[in-house]
Amino acid sequence: MAGAEHKRVLAIMAHPDDCEFTSAGTFAKWIAQGDTVEYVLCTSGDKGSLDPDMTSERIAAIREQEQLEAAKELGVSHCIFLRYRDGELEVTLKFREELALVIRQRKPDVVVTHDGWRHYAIHPDHRAVGFTTMDAVAAARDHLYYPHQLKDGITPQRVKEVLLFGPQEPNFWVDISDTFEKKLAALSKHKSQVARIENLRERIQNLAATWGQAQNLPLAEAFRRIEVR
Ligand SMILES: [Zn+2]
Repeated sequence: MAGAEHKRVLAIMAHPDDCEFTSAGTFAKWIAQGDTVEYVLCTSGDKGSLDPDMTSERIAAIREQEQLEAAKELGVSHCIFLRYRDGELEVTLKFREELALVIRQRKPDVVVTHDGWRHYAIHPDHRAVGFTTMDAVAAARDHLYYPHQLKDGITPQRVKEVLLFGPQEPNFWVDISDTFEKKLAALSKHKSQVARIENLRERIQNLAATWGQAQNLPLAEAFRRIEVR
């Protein structure tokens, strides 16, 4: 990672709660070390309710508020809501351009996102965000991509590395033993999603223990780390 220097991290996710399930222990650890973590929410999760009386507008507003509370719990310093429609994200040039602009504006050293290559993953948004974020990382660094963006202090941004969470083939693990409770506290802010999950603590603990097994870590989060050249 970035050594003794504090790094800027931008997490680009499909839905509110994606990062709390997969990466919050890591983010809490980095923030405690002085790093800056910011979130981009591509959708506001407007299909994420089992309540027949719920509307997309209401659940989106609820989930944005829950995400802001979870971010505050972790010390995430900024949340950007792009408000694409839940379940309808596609790998498009327009989406790539929008994410490239956010990367150029926020200037992260590290981008964290979904693993678009994960086998047999059902959710289309996770694939679309994973692939489009990689494409945007490539576009953000070269000045001939979207030259109209390069004004008012916006310059090309060379991201140093990408971490894919929930990866098909992890190659990077973070010990979250010290930040597990923080992760759980942040995840618990997503009440509309986690209230229906029985034994939340046990499930999250088992998952972290499983991720950690490969490296003899008691509790871990796992990523695919890709160096950007
Ligand atoms: Zn999701």
